[in-house]
Amino acid sequence: MRKLLAAALVCGVLPAYGWGPEGHNLVTRIAVAELTPAAQAKVREILGPDQTLVSISSWADQVRRQRANTGPWHYIDIPIDQPHMDMARDCPKDDCVVAQIAIQRALMVNPSATAEQRKEALMFVVHFVGDMHQPLHCSDNKDKGGNDVHVVLFDRPGNLHSTWDSGLLSRMGKEDDLFPAMLKEAQKRRKKWSKGSVADWAEESHKAAQKTVYGKLPPEPKGTPEPLGAAYEAAADPVIRVQIEKAGDRLARVLNDTLK
Ligand SMILES: [Zn+2]
Repeated sequence: MRKLLAAALVCGVLPAYGWGPEGHNLVTRIAVAELTPAAQAKVREILGPDQTLVSISSWADQVRRQRANTGPWHYIDIPIDQPHMDMARDCPKDDCVVAQIAIQRALMVNPSATAEQRKEALMFVVHFVGDMHQPLHCSDNKDKGGNDVHVVLFDRPGNLHSTWDSGLLSRMGKEDDLFPAMLKEAQKRRKKWSKGSVADWAEESHKAAQKTVYGKLPPEPKGTPEPLGAAYEAAADPVIRVQIEKAGDRLARVLNDTLK
């Protein structure tokens, strides 16, 4: 969810912000299973006894309204018709998810930061690594990352962005039922998937948006709601699954490399 909060509140529709809690929980549960003992200890030290990585994984969305400046930190608008990310073009003033992962990651272990600053930095990193794996958080088609594209997923009206945040995932099953198979797959491919840089991961997410999110949309005249059914779901679900699994492996790597 980007700039549609006012409209959403007027219409009485709950706004969506990046993967819904289910997606963020899955990403974080995979990462937790892959943390080193040293990283686990540091996480406990930073978060304190009452919170866990899973319990804080959607915190950044909860504070987004009070902290308007952090809104753009959840995504990067790489134009859908461009082959690559360009930080000068797509990330002005470091106001994007790619820059903020680096900034918050450094802050998390900055000895001159306060305990509260380090805790918030950790909570941002956990959330942002998840968010950037939602393909529409790394792409824009002059439609606010799909928020302006009206769709009907089976009989449920919505927009393309929220459909990818949570609409499709909620149809895939409950978090606890999805988790074991996702963890298994993430662990099997961990060595390969945890490679690369945050910039590489953003480009990969962007490619998934080009190929599947927009690429598989039925060709409707502009302005008509896109009817999304079984064919779209069959193309989208494996992408969602893999993006969540990759995000889990990569979040573990970021935390293990940072919290030594
Ligand atoms: Zn978010």
